[in-house]
Amino acid sequence: MSGQQPTAILHIDFHSPEEELLHPLLQEKEVRLFVKRDDLIHPFISGNKWRKLKYVLARAQAENRRHLVTFGGAWSNHLVATACAGAKFGFNTTGFVRGEEVENPQLSLCRIFGMVLRFVDRTAYRDKKDLFAQHYGDDPEAYFIDEGGASIEATKGCAEIIGELSQQYDHLFCACGTGTTLAGLGLGIAGKELHTRLHGVPVLKGGDFIRQEVKKLTPHPYPFDLHTDYHFGGYAKIKPELTHFIRKFCSSSGILIEPVYTGKLFFAIFDLLEKDYFSHGDRILALHTGGLTGMQWMKSGH
Ligand SMILES: *Cc1c(COP(=O)(O)O)cnc(C)c1O
Repeated sequence: MSGQQPTAILHIDFHSPEEELLHPLLQEKEVRLFVKRDDLIHPFISGNKWRKLKYVLARAQAENRRHLVTFGGAWSNHLVATACAGAKFGFNTTGFVRGEEVENPQLSLCRIFGMVLRFVDRTAYRDKKDLFAQHYGDDPEAYFIDEGGASIEATKGCAEIIGELSQQYDHLFCACGTGTTLAGLGLGIAGKELHTRLHGVPVLKGGDFIRQEVKKLTPHPYPFDLHTDYHFGGYAKIKPELTHFIRKFCSSSGILIEPVYTGKLFFAIFDLLEKDYFSHGDRILALHTGGLTGMQWMKSGH
């Protein structure tokens, strides 16, 4: 195979299912919990990363930009997704990685999918637009994609989740890193005039910043509740309580979750359930945003 053939249509034809979870606590509280399995969309372009990239890539393709340039930490799911999507849809890819040069399974995957990695120190990393301009400012094929894929296009892709749902829910929960997925879900709910209550579980400390981020993406956001007490010390930080919960969850459901995002999401939902946050008869939907390649860091001694 040679180089970058403009491949097929930018599409992954997969409608992720909603599966009901059965658990004694759910039965006791008379609440039903469903999981939208976006983790099944693709093994590497998984979950919300495909939702977020879809219209970004469509725009890059329409503008005839064959080189995607993006940004992330050394364990970024977004870097892997962009590398794989680039390979699949015929783009070159470059990833700026925050911090000193390291090797890990996640970055190896990026390289396997053909991504060129450029490590930059934390100070330089802060100004992404500037990094892009310095290195690729005169490359007409280069296309800037912000860290985590945050953009208006990304919210549009996430909004489509709502149109796929087979029933109405009283509550919809997602994990939040940048808040883009949350903003997109809000757009989708508002667009269909549903009455679903929207909830975000920030995985970073001080998660209230999500409100500003959502506002930047959607000036009149659909109202949502933020549950900011489930960060376990900050991004990618874990505590034995969380690990214990994840093991029990996986072994009783057959659904894998990981400690960075979805572990905290489901921990929050079950904690709220314990605390009688929900009403009898409520139907809850949790969005499984994928991110399972990030699991590899558990094996590497973290
Ligand atoms: C990136 C990621 C998120 C965060 O999504 P945002 O739109 O940035 O809030 C959530 N879950 C998983 C598994 C992710 O990889």
